[in-house]
Amino acid sequence: MQCDDCENEATTRYRWPWGAEGYVCGTHLVAIKNTAAALNQEPEYLHKPAPAVIDAEPDSEPEPTEPTEPTEPTEPTEPT
Ligand SMILES: [Zn+2]
Repeated sequence: MQCDDCENEATTRYRWPWGAEGYVCGTHLVAIKNTAAALNQEPEYLHKPAPAVIDAEPDSEPEPTEPTEPTEPTEPTEPT
């Protein structure tokens, strides 16, 4: 999705209280916020879904913890 105001990739979707909505890049998001301040209106910001979203992994495995140093096998005590 492209920014409504330039060629950049849009990062944020916004929707004004009266229903108008669009997509803006980070730069033009500032412009939207300035407009919001000027109008004393606050649009709802809806982060657009990432373009290449693969089905959310159901239960991702937790990060494996750092492997601990292999412990030396204890020497069997010499029978005296
Ligand atoms: Zn832009």
